[in-house]
Amino acid sequence: MAKKQFKAESKRLLEMMINSIYTHKEIFLRELISNASDAIDKLYYKALTDEKLVFDKDSYYIRLTVDKANRTLTIADTGIGMTKEDLENNLGVIAKSGSLAFKKENESKDGHDIIGQFGVGFYSAFMVADKVTVISRSVDEAEAYKWESAGADGYSIEPAEKAAPGSEITLKIKDNTEDENYDEYLQEYRLKAIVKKYSDFIRYPIRMDISSSRPKEGSENEWEDYTEEQTVNSMVPIWKKNKNELTDEDYANFYAEKHYGFDKPLKHIHVSVDGSVSYNAILFIPENIPFDYYSKEFEKGLELYSGGVLIMNKCSDLLPDYYSFVKGMVDSEDLSLNISRELLQHDRQLKLIAKSLKSKIKNQLKSMLKDERENYEKFYNSFGRQLKYGIYSDYGTNKEELQDLLMFYSSKEKKLVTLDEYVSRMPEEQKYIYYATGESNARIEKLPQTELVAEKGYEILYFTDDVDEFAIKVIMNYKEKEFRSVSGGDLGIDTDENKDEAAEEDKESQDLFASMSSVLAGKVSKVKASKRLRSHPVCLSAEGEVTIEMEKVLKMMPNSPGVQAEKVLEINRNHEVFQSLKQAAGDQDKLALITNLLYNQALLIEGLSVEDPVQFTNDICKMIVSASK
Ligand code: ADP
Ligand code: MG
Repeated sequence: MAKKQFKAESKRLLEMMINSIYTHKEIFLRELISNASDAIDKLYYKALTDEKLVFDKDSYYIRLTVDKANRTLTIADTGIGMTKEDLENNLGVIAKSGSLAFKKENESKDGHDIIGQFGVGFYSAFMVADKVTVISRSVDEAEAYKWESAGADGYSIEPAEKAAPGSEITLKIKDNTEDENYDEYLQEYRLKAIVKKYSDFIRYPIRMDISSSRPKEGSENEWEDYTEEQTVNSMVPIWKKNKNELTDEDYANFYAEKHYGFDKPLKHIHVSVDGSVSYNAILFIPENIPFDYYSKEFEKGLELYSGGVLIMNKCSDLLPDYYSFVKGMVDSEDLSLNISRELLQHDRQLKLIAKSLKSKIKNQLKSMLKDERENYEKFYNSFGRQLKYGIYSDYGTNKEELQDLLMFYSSKEKKLVTLDEYVSRMPEEQKYIYYATGESNARIEKLPQTELVAEKGYEILYFTDDVDEFAIKVIMNYKEKEFRSVSGGDLGIDTDENKDEAAEEDKESQDLFASMSSVLAGKVSKVKASKRLRSHPVCLSAEGEVTIEMEKVLKMMPNSPGVQAEKVLEINRNHEVFQSLKQAAGDQDKLALITNLLYNQALLIEGLSVEDPVQFTNDICKMIVSASK
C-alpha cells in the first residue's frame, strides 16, 4: 500500500511531537481519552435524532489494554468511529484553528514547554510511540479501515476487520532511552494514575484490567495472581454535583486531593452558571499564605477544564492579580480543548468567565466581612496586602472594586475596622480620615504627631504595611472624605488659631526658628511652632505630597528614585525645652547642640536612623557633662 504524505503543517507538528523533550509526555493519554469521549458524545447526539441508533448508556465505554510482550497500549472506544475519508481528513491533516495557532506559536518558541499548556490532539501519541495504528469502523458502515503511521514520513490506510463500530488506537510504545523511561506507559498502576490525574471526570467509564495478587482460597500463606476489570475514573466531578449534597468536608477533601494547599480552605465558592457562557467552578480562599506567595516564583491561576478534561493547570487569565490567592478550577463546555495559550487570552468565553468569577469572589469576600468577621480578619491578615497592591497598581482602576474590602487597625477600637465603619462614626466637624504610619501598632501608638488628633477624640487608622499609604493616595477620598496623615502639613483642625499665629509672628520665636533652620540646613526645609504637639517636645512632619513614610519605602526600592519628603521640624512651644532653646538663642554653639539633639530625637521617634550616630552620642555626652557642672 502506497504511503501518503502528511500535509506540510501536520508534518511539522508531528516532527515536533516525535522529537519532543517535553517532560509531561503522559498527557498523550489525556488527549486520546478525550478524543474517545468526544467520539462517544457524537454517537450520543446522533442517537438523539437517528431512530436506528439506540444509545444504551451501559454499552458505551473506553477501554485501555496493555500488551507488555509486544509493548503496545490500546485505547478503544465504542464511539461514532471514522470512515476511510474521516481517517484521511482527520488524522492526515490539521485543519483546526487551535492546531494552526499552535504552529504559529511554535515559530517563536522552541515548543517543549508549551505542549502541556493545552490540548495538542492526536499527534501527541507520537511523544511516546514510534508507531500508531488506528482501526476504526464508522457507525454508518460495515467496513473498517486501518490507518497506520510510523512518523513524519507518511501514513497508510487499508481495509481492516472490526466487529463493532468505534475506534481502537494502538501505540507501539518507544524503547527506553537513557533519559526517558517509556516502560511506565505499559504499567497498569501508572496508567491508572494518569487517568485519575487528567481524566477522572470523563463521563464514560474508562475500563482497564488491573492485575493484583490475593491470598489463595483455603490456604493460609499461598498467594495467587488475578486480573480484574476496573473502572478507573470516578465519572462524576464534584463541581457537577449539587451543592446541597456536598459538605464542607467534601470540599476540603477536594482541596487536599488537588494539592491546592496544605492548609484547610477558609472558604469555598461553588458556582454553576448557565447563560451566555456556561461553566462550573469551585474556588477556594486559603487560610494560610502559601510559602512562596509574596515571591517571584508564585504563579496565580485556576485549573481549566473543558467538558471534564483538564486543559491547563494554571490559567492565569481567570484571576486578576489582586485575587491571586484564590485556588480552584473551572470547567466549561464552551471552551475548545485545542486552544493555545495566546488564543485563550483573547477568548471571549474565557473573558466572560473571568469577569463572572471576579464578581463571585468579591461577593464572597463582602459577605464574609459582613457575616463572618473573624474569618474575614483571618483572610485579611494573610492576603489584605494583596488587595492593597491591587488598589495601588493599574493606576487605581480597581479601587472601586476593592476599597470596601480594606481594613486598618483603629486607635479607638483597638482592632481592624473598615473605611465605611470609620466614616460612619466621624463626628460632624471632623473633616478628614486620619492615619498614622509606622512599623507597628505599638510604635504608632507612641507617635507624638498623633497627640492633637487624639486629643480631639478623632479615630486614627494605623498604617503598618509599606503599601498602605500608597494605596490610600490612589483612593484619594472615601465617601467624599479625604485622607490626612497625622504628620502631614494641614490637619484641618481648628485650634486656638489666633494665639498660635500670634506666637508664630512673635519676633523672638521667628528669629530662633530661623537660626535653628540654618543649623539644620539641607536636612529640614524649616523649623516651626507645632500645632499638633501636646506633651512631646518635637516631631517631624512633611509638607507636600511625599510623606516621610513614603520616602522610607521609596528609599528601599531598587533604583530608588531618590524622592525626598519636605521635612519640617516642629517644636512644642509649651514644652520646657522651648524655654531652654530661647535661653540658648544668643549662644550659637549651644543652640546648635540642642537643635541637633532635638532633630535626631525626632528622627528616632519617626523610625528613621540618625545620620551621624557618633556625633549624636558625643552631643549627648556634652549635655551630660554640662548638666553635672
Ligand atoms: P480535536 O480532538 O481537537 O478535534 P485531535 O487531533 O485530537 O483534534 O483529533 C482530530 C480528529 O480526529 C478529531 O476531531 C476527530 O474527528 C478524529 N478522531 C480522533 N480520535 C477519534 C476517535 N477515537 N474516534 C473518532 N474520531 C476520532
Ligand atoms: Mg482531541
